Order: sequence, then C-alpha cells, then structure tokens
Amino acid sequence: MKIMYYGVRGSIPAPGADTARYGGNTTCAEVVTASGQRLIIDCGTGIRKLGLKLLAERDVPEIPIFMTHVHWDHIQGLPFFLPIYMNRFRLRFLGAKESFGRLYSTLYDQMDGYVFPAKLQEVQSDINFQEVDVGEPVTYGDAKFEIVRNNHPVPTYGVKISENGRSFVFMTDNELRDEKPKTDYAAFVKFCRGADLLVHDAQYTEEDMKKTRGWGHSTFLEAIKLAEDAGVKRLGFFHHDPERSDDQLDAIVSEMQAKTKIDVFGTREGEALEI
Ligand SMILES: [Zn+2]
Repeated sequence: MKIMYYGVRGSIPAPGADTARYGGNTTCAEVVTASGQRLIIDCGTGIRKLGLKLLAERDVPEIPIFMTHVHWDHIQGLPFFLPIYMNRFRLRFLGAKESFGRLYSTLYDQMDGYVFPAKLQEVQSDINFQEVDVGEPVTYGDAKFEIVRNNHPVPTYGVKISENGRSFVFMTDNELRDEKPKTDYAAFVKFCRGADLLVHDAQYTEEDMKKTRGWGHSTFLEAIKLAEDAGVKRLGFFHHDPERSDDQLDAIVSEMQAKTKIDVFGTREGEALEI
C-alpha cells in the first residue's frame, strides 16, 4: 500500500519560505492499495495538485473520496480539483452516516455559484455519495476500510485501511485527551492495534495545549502514547500548526524521536510512504 500526502497542514494553508519543506497545503491524502485501488482522503487545498496528476491518467476507475469532516481546511480544495469538471471521471464521496446530511449540504453550499462561481450540481463528472458507518467496514477489492468517531467539535472520523495483513490508520482532528470524549481512549488503542503506520494529529506541544484544550487536537506526546499503547510500528505527526516553521518542526521531531523507540516522523507534503 502506498500513501502520499498532498497536504499536511492544519487549519489554514501556510505557504512561505519557512514552511516549504513540510508543506503549506491543508489535508489531502492519496492511498493506492497493492491491488491498485485508489482512495482519496479529504479535499483540503492539497487536492489541487493531486487533480493535476489524475488529469494526465487515462481510463481512471471510480475514485472513492472519504471525507473525515467538513471543516474548511478539509473541503476548501474541492473547487480546484479539476477532475470534478471532466465527464470521464467518476467520484464517490464517502461520509459517516451520523453527519452525512451536513457533508452533502456543505459541499454543495461551498460550490453554489455564489461562494464559488461554478456549481457542484452542474459539474461534468459523475458524482455520487455513499454513507459509511462505525463498525461496518466497507471493502474495495482486497482492501478493508473502516472508520472511528474522533473527538472533535463536529462529527469527525478516523480511517483504517487494511490489506493483506497490513494496515494504515489516519486520524486527524482528534483530541485524544478530550474531557467529554465521543470515543474513549481504549477504543482508539483497539482501533490502531498493530498498525504498520499511524498518521495522527499532533498540532500542539504540551505548552500550546494549555490554551488549546477542547479545540479537538492532540499533542506530539499524546500521539506517541497512543502509538506505543497500540503497538504501532511507525507514527507520522500530522495537521501541523500553521504557525509552526520547518525548523521548529524539525526540532520537535528530534526531541520526540529521543523519547520513544517507535519510528516517529513529521509527515511531509509530496513524500511517499509505503507499508
Ligand atoms: Zn483540520
């Protein structure tokens, strides 16, 4: 399974010389399973570049696009994802059953001809929607896809993609130490158990978290604890704070590498990961 991130930044795009190495685009990931099934996760600003890559491909099969939630940094790139305007593309938006209505209305409202000049209901691609539910895995070829409810101010979901005994878990916009959790910590440990790769929200330091508790994000150390408790093999920090420079992130990642035996790293835009 190959995983490529097209956006790793949290909250708002943060372009500039001091964020160029990790990247300034917001959340978008492309997963290609060993059997060749492609899956996109989220439509942050990173999806623009993924769209350009897809335009160069011929005979693209239907692409599932899982939406973790509809906060702006996870949907904002959709109007600039050129495949939606081409009739040779078929796109299937997957969203959690619990918040499906808001997913549908938010994507259409974002492209209603007023907020953005093109209307989603008039684009040329073949768009359809599919509900997925917690505890009800969906299969694509050899790959199993399942979700867990995250702790975030609005319904937000983590995903696990498993294939041939390997698994990748991606949980962004998740507060592991939420005081009123929607999912308790033990359930997250179970969901991540034995994953070959976990990419988890680590927007804040412990110092930052004194001011940001309840905002729906986690710290580097909280993500490490989850990875250790779940016996995860590799951990990628994700949803980098827009104010965090590359140099600051390098320093934090080095500090974290000294605190755990797990292979931990900061996810970077454009870097391919393979499990
Ligand atoms: Zn976010």
